[in-house]
Amino acid sequence: MSNNNGFLPLPKGLSTIAIHEGQDPDKRTNREVVIPISMTTTYKQEAPGNYKEYEYIRHGNPTRDALEKIIAKMECAKHAACFSSGLGAISSLLTLLKHGDHFVCIEDIYGGTNRLFLEIASNFGIEVTFAENNVDAFEKCIRPSTKMIFVESPTNPTLQVVDLEEMGKLAKRRNLMFVVDNTFLTPFFQRPISFGADVVVHSLSKYMNGHSDVCMGALVTNDDKLGEKFHFFQKAIGAVPSPFDCYQIIRSLKTLPLRMKQHFKNGLAVAEYLEKHPKIEKVMHPALPSHPQHELAKRQSSGHSGILSFYLKGDMGASTKFLNSLKYFTLAPSLGGAESLAALNVLMTHSWVPEQQRKKLGITDNLIRLSVGLEDEEDLIADLEQALNNV
Ligand SMILES: *Cc1c(COP(=O)(O)O)cnc(C)c1O
Repeated sequence: MSNNNGFLPLPKGLSTIAIHEGQDPDKRTNREVVIPISMTTTYKQEAPGNYKEYEYIRHGNPTRDALEKIIAKMECAKHAACFSSGLGAISSLLTLLKHGDHFVCIEDIYGGTNRLFLEIASNFGIEVTFAENNVDAFEKCIRPSTKMIFVESPTNPTLQVVDLEEMGKLAKRRNLMFVVDNTFLTPFFQRPISFGADVVVHSLSKYMNGHSDVCMGALVTNDDKLGEKFHFFQKAIGAVPSPFDCYQIIRSLKTLPLRMKQHFKNGLAVAEYLEKHPKIEKVMHPALPSHPQHELAKRQSSGHSGILSFYLKGDMGASTKFLNSLKYFTLAPSLGGAESLAALNVLMTHSWVPEQQRKKLGITDNLIRLSVGLEDEEDLIADLEQALNNV
């Protein structure tokens, strides 16, 4: 991977940021090298109303603060705020909109985000239109009441790549807030703020934590006013993470660059293997030259994570047989952990999405998504081989 597979160069300094940003031992009373877990919910005041930096855990917490500094710096932003889940972050963000407001969202999106937008936001009079993956389609959906553009790139589960720069320009031209969910790539592979994103959303439960044992989300921005609002959301809405979980993610981020490089390598090896297999109809992975937005992916990201999807030749029966035969790939939703996972999106992650939308997106009975983990490449390929032989 000498020229990084033709992708943008890998970002410099991200490991150092993860290991040092906001973590200077000299700034701490006992000079702990590692950020301590601060569990106290409340702080003694010197006189009524006279407190130092912290007042109550929901408003602010030193372990959470440290994590937020690291995430902001990694995304080349000034502000980050952490929430108790990715959806907790997105639902807090939605409160920027009011009754009567409208926004445009990419049609291929995380199932839970889709449900939040259709089932919850609508109760508050906030309307969403789902648009195809191109800037003209987005522009056609804009109304006088439109306030926001919301995208994921690459999308889930069909891995379409969105042109972030062009979408950012559209948002700027029409004076809309541009929000990018960067969960699939993390700042190691993609930095949406450099393409004009006003807000970057994360489910930290995936690659950022990377060990399938924490649920958390984040909102990131370079805008001082928005940054202030995000912290106000923590205090006023209350979807905040526990300090213990914040500690776990601080620990995990120190290996993010190492992990992501390996996810990219393993994922691409699996994609190349599957693409040649006679029982596979089609593989979706942005680093494959057969991917429709392969050139765009190379222009706007420094690589790809371990996520790929493919169409198995056959029906639900074949998919079930294949998935039940896997040994190292665990049949489970979610992604981004050290252990490889496999999912049948139509039943496991997108069952909630209306059937018509699913059909249009190609979320069919033979679409399988893999989250390729950190096991040895040869073992993963051997596992897929024996499962395919069973079909
Ligand atoms: C998982 C996920 C979410 C939701 O995050 P949670 O932490 O599970 O609430 C949002 N967006 C994407 C792309 C995801 O993969």
